[in-house]
Amino acid sequence: MDFVFNAQSSQPAGYDVVIIGGGPAGATAAIYTARAGLKTLVLDKGLTTGALGITGKIANYPGVVDEISGAELLERMRSQARSFGTEFVSDKVIGADLVSEEKTIFGNAAAYTARAVIIATGSMGRGSRVKGEDELLGHGVSYCATCDGAFFRDQEVVVAGNSDEAIEEGLFLTKFAQLVHFLSPTPELKAPQHLVDALVNDPKIKLYKGAGLREIFGGGRVEGVRFVRRGQTEQETLAVTGAFIYLQGGKPITDFLQGQIEISEAGCLVVDREFQTAVPGVYAVGDVLCNHIKQAVIAAAEGATAAIAVEKALRGRKQMMVDWSK
Ligand SMILES: Cc1cc2nc3c(=O)[nH]c(=O)nc-3n(C[C@H](O)[C@H](O)[C@H](O)COP(=O)(O)OP(=O)(O)OC[C@H]3O[C@@H](n4cnc5c(N)ncnc54)[C@H](O)[C@@H]3O)c2cc1C
Repeated sequence: MDFVFNAQSSQPAGYDVVIIGGGPAGATAAIYTARAGLKTLVLDKGLTTGALGITGKIANYPGVVDEISGAELLERMRSQARSFGTEFVSDKVIGADLVSEEKTIFGNAAAYTARAVIIATGSMGRGSRVKGEDELLGHGVSYCATCDGAFFRDQEVVVAGNSDEAIEEGLFLTKFAQLVHFLSPTPELKAPQHLVDALVNDPKIKLYKGAGLREIFGGGRVEGVRFVRRGQTEQETLAVTGAFIYLQGGKPITDFLQGQIEISEAGCLVVDREFQTAVPGVYAVGDVLCNHIKQAVIAAAEGATAAIAVEKALRGRKQMMVDWSK
């Protein structure tokens, strides 16, 4: 199947391409679009929130023979993309208007416009919610400290997660909260050392390692949470008024699309041979697709293919073309 996209828009737009997700798929797409002279923005919520970012050691990426962590490899890809002019903004995408010719992407921090969008958000989305989470969402449960932190001045809150995103949000909350209880589901945090040090040394943060959040409770507003420590069965309770959740799972991250793009029963985006979705100008690559072998090199290859297709579409060409000369 091939979807037709003829987007020679005369409308001025902020960017030619906005790429949502800066993992190997998104970062590689950015290398290609930026090098082709397209004004490229990558929006990403954190270096260690994606699959490659949390990988301890990667040994099978072609050309990388030294011992290297996934985060280091990703940094190299991102810095290569930056060298060609890609702009990276740390922001979590929470919504989008993709159907209009000019696409608008809504982040926690700002809105961004583009002529084409590449979705590369990976598959570390949560499949299930914690008991009480859905009922208390917006009533003390939040996914955005920057948006909601100020409502918790001088109160005790909980943060659940172990990535750089979770730590940065936890540190941000200390500006307002009296105490931040930080529940890491794993015994070790999966984030750069300077962030871990900042968390551990912050007097307003209490770290619980290997603590699994089980329930958020309250009568109309959050009044507390229950968690279980690794190896234990008994639940412990914390009296808090806010619960900020940054946990990860194994589901394609598509929640911000709000039904604008066809999603298969398995929760995956449907694309054509050039990785374009049924919405003209919107592409998807990497682990967010189901028929994809989950490997960094494959995500990167898909990113490159989509980027070349975007360049072809935006410049109104019929054939995909790679410029070898630069
Ligand atoms: C533990 C582990 C070990 C692995 N080991 C290997 C290996 O040795 N070799 C190998 O080739 N592959 C390995 N893989 C697989 C490989 O990491 C993935 O296939 C690859 O990272 C997928 O790339 P991606 O860009 O699609 O997604 P990801 O790498 O998951 O990147 C997605 C990006 O999107 C961002 N994002 C998500 N949602 C949003 C949002 N709403 N707003 C803004 N940004 C968002 C995330 O922050 C992230 O940076 C491993 C995976 C895991 C989990």
